[in-house]
Amino acid sequence: MSASPADLVRRFHHAVGLDARTTPTEVPAPLAAQRGRLLAEEAAEVAEVSVTGPLDKLAHELADVVYVAYGTALVHGIDLDAVIAEIHRSNMTKLGPDGRIRRRADGKILKGDHYEAPDVAAVLRRQGWVPGGE
Ligand SMILES: [Mg+2]
Repeated sequence: MSASPADLVRRFHHAVGLDARTTPTEVPAPLAAQRGRLLAEEAAEVAEVSVTGPLDKLAHELADVVYVAYGTALVHGIDLDAVIAEIHRSNMTKLGPDGRIRRRADGKILKGDHYEAPDVAAVLRRQGWVPGGE
């Protein structure tokens, strides 16, 4: 894929006249709620086919979730790629200095002594977000 999901979704929003903001912004509640419902619908569709498949349907619904999530970020003016990079940075701190991770008995990866929580607010502030502002 030559264009990133963010680029593709931005093209779609511009083409069909959906909201697309460039600065993190609190949007009107009805719009925010609509975006939340859209994402919940797509997540539910993933849940429906997660076990039963078929695999092409699962792939389709996973892509729908990502597409709608990027669209929702765009509606709110969030550069989601930068947020994902911050989540990734944090997740990688779950590795110890020896490159190992600790797991609970059920397989869940535990946060070690070197874990750093993601600072999403800082990422949004770098994008121009003013908490509580318009
Ligand atoms: Mg779907």
